[in-house]
Amino acid sequence: MARTDSALPSPSRRAFLRGRARAETPLRPPWALAEGDFTNMCTACHACLSACPEKVLVRGSGGYPVFDPGRGECTFCGACEAACEPRALQRDAGQAPWTLVAHASGACLPLQGVVCRSCRDACGEDAIAFAPGALQAPAIDTDRCTGCGACVGTCPASAISLQARPRAEAA
Ligand code: SF4
Ligand code: SF4
Ligand code: SF4
Repeated sequence: MARTDSALPSPSRRAFLRGRARAETPLRPPWALAEGDFTNMCTACHACLSACPEKVLVRGSGGYPVFDPGRGECTFCGACEAACEPRALQRDAGQAPWTLVAHASGACLPLQGVVCRSCRDACGEDAIAFAPGALQAPAIDTDRCTGCGACVGTCPASAISLQARPRAEAA
């Protein structure tokens, strides 16, 4: 039976579903190939986990490595990429390590009337700003944000997450 327009999600619902799909994209180690290529190449050997001096890489679903910014900051030292013999992580010249960017949710304390600047103080890139005296969520400069995750674990309200900006699958 043909679907009627009323059976289709509304434009706002479709936008929500797209956003949710992006939010659920695993946070892979830096310089990971696009997701489909990554899971094809990665052998879940966990050499990257062992190599990471910050211990911010953990076993995720299926044994594949994921970045857990709640454990700390990625310094982009490149040790994980150097340890990856199957080349599921590939550090090409000029390539950004990943497409992650910080995002503040409605749990942000200033939105509850509580002064907090923890995320801004943790950010070494000056990517987070607050309007003077304002009780409002932080403004995140997505051009400056490297997705390092330093702000995530410092937020007392767990209001900051990293979201992946989509990257084209390799041909
Ligand atoms: S770049 Fe360095 S700090 Fe970042 S995940 Fe890889 S090994 Fe860890
Ligand atoms: S070192 Fe490479 S192949 Fe091994 S788990 Fe990490 S990303 Fe996968
Ligand atoms: S992820 Fe890193 S660069 Fe981006 S806002 Fe947080 S601390 Fe700053």
